[in-house]
Amino acid sequence: MPETTDTRTTAERTLLIKGATVLTMDPELGDLTTGDILVTGDRITAVGPDLDDRVSADTEVVQARGMIAVPGLIDTHMHAWQTPLKGLYAHGWTGDDYQSQVFYLREHFRPEDIYDATFSGTVQMLDAGVTGVLDFCHNVMSPEGAEAGLRAHRATGQRALFAYGMLGSFGAPPEDHAWRLDHVRRLHEEVNTGGDGLLRVGMALGSIEYGSMDRITKEVALARELGLRMSVHQNPPGQIRALHEAGLLDSDIVPAHANSADDGELALLARCGGGISFTPEGEFGGGRSMTILNRAHRAGASPSLGIDTHARVSIDLFAAMRLTYLLMRNVDATTEREAGRWPLERHPGVPLVQPRDILAYATVNAAAALGLGDDLGRLTPGRLADIVLIDTEPYGVALGDPAAHVVLQTTPRDVDTVVVGGRIRKRDGRLTDLDPTEAGAATRRVRERVFAEAAAHGGPVPDLGPVR
Ligand SMILES: [Zn+2]
Repeated sequence: MPETTDTRTTAERTLLIKGATVLTMDPELGDLTTGDILVTGDRITAVGPDLDDRVSADTEVVQARGMIAVPGLIDTHMHAWQTPLKGLYAHGWTGDDYQSQVFYLREHFRPEDIYDATFSGTVQMLDAGVTGVLDFCHNVMSPEGAEAGLRAHRATGQRALFAYGMLGSFGAPPEDHAWRLDHVRRLHEEVNTGGDGLLRVGMALGSIEYGSMDRITKEVALARELGLRMSVHQNPPGQIRALHEAGLLDSDIVPAHANSADDGELALLARCGGGISFTPEGEFGGGRSMTILNRAHRAGASPSLGIDTHARVSIDLFAAMRLTYLLMRNVDATTEREAGRWPLERHPGVPLVQPRDILAYATVNAAAALGLGDDLGRLTPGRLADIVLIDTEPYGVALGDPAAHVVLQTTPRDVDTVVVGGRIRKRDGRLTDLDPTEAGAATRRVRERVFAEAAAHGGPVPDLGPVR
């Protein structure tokens, strides 16, 4: 665990966030124009206009006037191991490009590379107000590799669901599968049953197009026996239906992307209470259909958001929210124009979403995707205290709805304070117990080692660019 100067036990620690504009994302509590949040241990214990009478002598007070308090953002589809490959897929165009420019490097990662990459990615996410992540680690080449990823998550202390990759090397023999299942069972005992709750192990199912349904059936059976959350890459059409027809589809599997899902598949997902993790920057940039966002929202297939890969875009979930909002507006407007309803007029259901809906994707819906729908994602007394304070100074808050300020006007630079599980991890714009330069150094180490491995195996070596 990271060092901390706070020697009080978690249960004793109290924190008061004072005078913020509070977006609770709780339909009953609503917004507080000026309000306080009291945290005791790792939970929110009160939210109200003035909680001064609840403060004790050793309560830590964060003055938050001029700031907007939101639930910590949660990325539901991120490959932390690809963090050091930042930019490598900037020019990618075809599916083969991804394989030949990025994914081939997977097998050159050793456990120390998984550690450094995961460490670097999670430090950057915390700095940017992303308090939680579903880390879809489809680069588990050995038990040691998975354990290195878990160690890195423990070291940074982000709330993480480590989705253990079931996808082995291409062309690997069937034995490559069994040890993964055994290892997940052991890790479940150690991390989920015996851990602190901040880090959990889940499962990244093998891609349906690469693995047999028989293997995936075994994976799902184990996950359900242990009560693990699952995610699956849903790229080619028809896979949600295929899971349904195999009797496997339920709300504990979060499909990622799913751009090709038809309305029947969305109805299947909605019926079981499931959702989809969208990564609109990559999907849009890759030319996929984005009508899925609006169709999923209408169908009630709870959307959440991720950035997918740092090889293409930054870890900035504010940017992903902004693009999502604009894309959904674009889909609405295009539909209207093509139906001859131009210039645009408002009518029921059009436009479909407001900025607040998108903030819910990255908080409320994302918490549900992690299996923490009743415990996280809202600033409600009793819920886990993952909180972000966005500074609106010195340039001032946007007019109107503060949720619009968060979704349309905020960048990670504006993230003043980050609280995870009741602990302050960033304050006054600086990480309190993690060093960004260590994250940068970790990224550089991975590049040196992995690219040297690639060269030693006769593979192409990425261009490091002008700045080393
Ligand atoms: Zn992905």
